Amino acid sequence: MNSKNELSFENLLQDVVNKNLCNRCGGCVSFCSANSIDALKIGKEGFPEYKDKDKCLECGICYLICPKTRNLEEELKSHYDWKYPLGHWIDIFSARSTDEEVLNVATDGGVVTSILIYLLENKIIDGAIVSKRTGTHGRMPIIAKTRSDLIDAAGSSFAETHHLDELGNIYSTSFPIIKVIKESASDSMKKLAIVGTACQIEAIRKMQLLNIVPSNLIIFAIGLFCMQCFTIEDLSKKNFAKTHKIDLDNIEKVNIKDNLILKMKSNVSFHIPLEEIEEIARPACLACNDFSNEFADISVGGVGSQDGYTTVMIRTSLGKQVYAEALYHDYVKNSHGSYHHSREVNEKHLLDIIKDFAIRKKIRSEKRINSMNN
Ligand SMILES: Cc1cc2nc3c(=O)[nH]c(=O)nc-3n(C[C@H](O)[C@H](O)[C@H](O)COP(=O)(O)OP(=O)(O)OC[C@H]3O[C@@H](n4cnc5c(N)ncnc54)[C@H](O)[C@@H]3O)c2cc1C
Ligand code: SF4
Ligand code: SF4
Ligand code: SF4
Repeated sequence: MNSKNELSFENLLQDVVNKNLCNRCGGCVSFCSANSIDALKIGKEGFPEYKDKDKCLECGICYLICPKTRNLEEELKSHYDWKYPLGHWIDIFSARSTDEEVLNVATDGGVVTSILIYLLENKIIDGAIVSKRTGTHGRMPIIAKTRSDLIDAAGSSFAETHHLDELGNIYSTSFPIIKVIKESASDSMKKLAIVGTACQIEAIRKMQLLNIVPSNLIIFAIGLFCMQCFTIEDLSKKNFAKTHKIDLDNIEKVNIKDNLILKMKSNVSFHIPLEEIEEIARPACLACNDFSNEFADISVGGVGSQDGYTTVMIRTSLGKQVYAEALYHDYVKNSHGSYHHSREVNEKHLLDIIKDFAIRKKIRSEKRINSMNN
């Protein structure tokens, strides 16, 4: 295969990992280990590395499926009927869960958790790959198999903890969520949904284009809007907290909409412009050009919607069908938002704001990549 692709993990190290562009999605390791080739492992700090270099077949697939390489980009865009600057989309609106238990723990309107509960309760999926809060280590990827697993994984409320460590990974995608797909194969789970940032969903979609395991297990992808990931620890290290006079120990909830929102235990909220936290973004995020998760079935975020609602972009016909069923069976409900009165005006408001973020992110990425090449 190497004669065809002339690529291997060495190239991935050279073009992505060593250039600080790896966002630790785990896609490369997931493919290599699911196929029992087992040449790679997730190493220290979550970056991929050789487990056994002699086992490498130099097939180049780890390189092709990496969200930070461009070889499959045109094919991917054509497959998903991609258009600048938001990719393909069918519908856009604000919505929320109808389930009080979900609303109490959700980041925004709990739409993600409620759609997953619908899929699980109706046996459309066997499980969902989400990221679960853990007692002392922030978050870790899990395959949720029950409603209660999903509720445990929802949102980002940390009211019971005082430690920065526990807040540490809230907005970090540095855990290899894709890696856990592999575990499901041996668990007789054959139909999975995944929730992920654009880098994670893109790795899955590239694997699906190549028709390779373990991406065949993923039947539904919910993509989160994402300007950047960071950890609360990063905030404190950069003296950011001092500048803004924020006591990081007293943060109750973190959210990103058009600003970073830190809700304190005292009920006071700080709204910090995203440009101000760019300095703590991962290098991989500064080079990333996808805000709205252009290859998901449904993309979601908080931006543009009133508090307690999720902004929903339906992208694929499957996304449309699943959302319509969840709506019909009363798992979620739509809203025109509090800003405007008609659906059309709300749609335009949401589109304008998402386009603005999407274009800003594409320009930032271009600048970053140009500066790296000069
Ligand atoms: C790193 C990151 C950056 C984001 N940036 C923005 C932004 O700039 N603008 C914006 O409008 N929205 C952003 N969002 C999305 C927003 O915070 C909400 O996740 C989204 O609106 C869905 O809300 P919900 O209440 O419907 O989700 P919920 O019902 O609360 O479910 C959230 C789901 O996301 C999963 N999850 C949480 N963290 C991660 C993670 N790091 N990686 C993968 N899955 C995860 C949870 O397991 C859960 O299944 C970001 C999310 C993340 C994780
Ligand atoms: S066997 Fe293929 S996928 Fe695995 S490390 Fe080597 S080139 Fe990458
Ligand atoms: S971004 Fe993902 S696929 Fe690319 S090198 Fe890093 S872990 Fe591997
Ligand atoms: S900014 Fe891009 S690379 Fe960074 S976590 Fe978000 S989608 Fe991934």
